[in-house]
Amino acid sequence: MIALKQTHATEIIAHAQASAPHECCGLIGGSNDGHARTIYRMRNVASDPLITYEAAPEDLFAAQRSMRECGEELLAIYHSHPRSQTPTPSATDVRLAYYPSAVYFIVGLGGEQPELGAFRISEREGCWGKSRVQGLCRRSLKPKPEGSRRDLDGAQTHQVRYQSSGRESRRARRQVA
Ligand SMILES: [Zn+2]
Repeated sequence: MIALKQTHATEIIAHAQASAPHECCGLIGGSNDGHARTIYRMRNVASDPLITYEAAPEDLFAAQRSMRECGEELLAIYHSHPRSQTPTPSATDVRLAYYPSAVYFIVGLGGEQPELGAFRISEREGCWGKSRVQGLCRRSLKPKPEGSRRDLDGAQTHQVRYQSSGRESRRARRQVA
């Protein structure tokens, strides 16, 4: 389980929008019970950042060092698909999913509104499962219309909980265990 605050989702989407048309990438650190605390932006140094991502090694090391110092664990990895309306892991994303215990967030910017998808990916089994977004969570992943902006600025801290569902993710979880 991973619990994300609205501000975290907003920050990830903002990073994706600022990086477009390139893909963005970053890490999410948090407590070992799955509550996200910090978003770590990383520079995408892939040779073709329009269609793939590769975190700058120094950014990766800095983020991991910072997580250690703050007592955080690596909970999730995010990147963006600037042209996807409904983001799903690509074949490359599955091939390069080296952290089976992490949740993979993908931001799709191809639709009218950004969409944030959460996935479990098993590189070894070559499969992925969509993480279910419950109730209010689904709505809160989309930017709020003008007029209710205070929802986005951290004044409220709705928690967005993701629970894995589906056969694929159960297989992925088994592998993690
Ligand atoms: Zn991807």
